[in-house]
Amino acid sequence: MSQPPPPVPPIGSLSAAQVRGAACVHCGITLGPDAIDLGERQAGRAGERVAWYPRACRIPHP
Ligand SMILES: [Zn+2]
Repeated sequence: MSQPPPPVPPIGSLSAAQVRGAACVHCGITLGPDAIDLGERQAGRAGERVAWYPRACRIPHP
């Protein structure tokens, strides 16, 4: 049984590296080429809608 992935945290709680997809959005580990692309997300920042592309590592996150 595989569990659904945890929801992506709010963009405001993430580091710059996590927001640009260089680090896992869940645990902050630096990502390599095998990272999981979580797809485009929309965030409101300073009154504008911005698209960002979170990525995650392959370690399960509780
Ligand atoms: Zn992770």
